[in-house]
Order: sequence, then C-alpha cells, then structure tokens
Amino acid sequence: MPVTDPTLLKIVENRVLDKLICRKCGARNPPGATKCRRCKSRNLRPKKKKIGVKK
Ligand SMILES: [Zn+2]
Repeated sequence: MPVTDPTLLKIVENRVLDKLICRKCGARNPPGATKCRRCKSRNLRPKKKKIGVKK
C-alpha cells in the first residue's frame, strides 16, 4: 500500500524504523525484541534511517 501524503509518510516511516528486522528471515519484530518471532533467531538488526537522524 503506497503512502503519498508527506505528513503521513513521516509517521509511517517513524513507525517502520522503530522495528527490528531479522537478518535470517527478514521478519519484522517489535522494538525491544531479542529474538525473531518467526524463526527465533537472535540475529536482529534495527531498521535505521540513513539521513536526517535526530540526536
Ligand atoms: Zn527470523
């Protein structure tokens, strides 16, 4: 589902970026998760934005 509204896009981006992605199966896990909910792998990485990161 494509999002075109810039304001909405920002909100969606923040939500998406606040997830952990499994390196093994690519499943999205809730922030704070230590194991993948699908494959139980611990190989999770935070999905971060490359530009415009606030400090
Ligand atoms: Zn996984």
